[in-house]
Amino acid sequence: MKISKKKCVGCANCVPVCPMNAIFIGPDNLAEVDREACVECHTCFRGLSFEHLPGGLVRWARRALKMVRLRFQPDPDLCPTEALEPEKLEWPRIVRSAFSDPMVTHESTGIHGRGTAEAKTNDVTGRVGTGEAGFVVEFGRPGIGVIFRDVEKATRALAVEGVVFEPENPVTSLMTNAGEGSIREDILDEKILSCIVEFKTRMEDVPRILDAVKAVSGTLNTVVSIGVSTRCDEDGSDPLHALLMEQGYDTWRAKVNMGMGRRSNIASGGKGRRV
Ligand code: SF4
Ligand code: SF4
Repeated sequence: MKISKKKCVGCANCVPVCPMNAIFIGPDNLAEVDREACVECHTCFRGLSFEHLPGGLVRWARRALKMVRLRFQPDPDLCPTEALEPEKLEWPRIVRSAFSDPMVTHESTGIHGRGTAEAKTNDVTGRVGTGEAGFVVEFGRPGIGVIFRDVEKATRALAVEGVVFEPENPVTSLMTNAGEGSIREDILDEKILSCIVEFKTRMEDVPRILDAVKAVSGTLNTVVSIGVSTRCDEDGSDPLHALLMEQGYDTWRAKVNMGMGRRSNIASGGKGRRV
């Protein structure tokens, strides 16, 4: 995102709208975007309405009114001069937008935003089988974000533990070697709002993997959240809940899929498609 110096009048309405605190009022009293902090989420552009007043005239009026102790301040949800200018993003910066702007469809999954349908569709996809646990590990949040170098630190540590990364996941699609958890070099300095790493393990490996995530998260400059899922037994119980309690985690059954989905191509040996 860029802010036109010609158009901006320094009203600061855009400053609180940015979830990354990337917009600030510079020494010239006009708004600027910190390009390293900006994750190209376009929240500022979508969150404000625009008027098309001439920047020079509004700046002059603001100065003149200030001299007589009056103030021209546009409504707080408004950029009076349409000074915010989204850029045409090139690789690798475009990765920021793919993981931070919920309106952008990720090329690798065809889904808006940073994740896949994750564990929510396991009854259809059958990704996580009996005796397995599916993990969704989220790196970053609005306000802090995450750089891919930190994500890679975690994926490398998890690869050492032998996890199998979900192939249809945006982060996996950016790996150069999923067995090692290595992510392409040219995006490692890109900052994003957040991303979700998905993988599965054997049930008995869950405590070891949780320990590994905990250990690596202490070395990262971001926040990490973990979700773990499994299949229920025929009577609706599951071994994961008790296992997590044993490890000292307070657990909640956050979501139970009732098997409303239907796999339509089991006979052909396919992975199933949604119907
Ligand atoms: S809202 Fe528009 S005019 Fe006001 S500081 Fe931001 S970019 Fe400048
Ligand atoms: S695009 Fe997003 S991160 Fe960048 S300045 Fe706008 S709101 Fe902030």
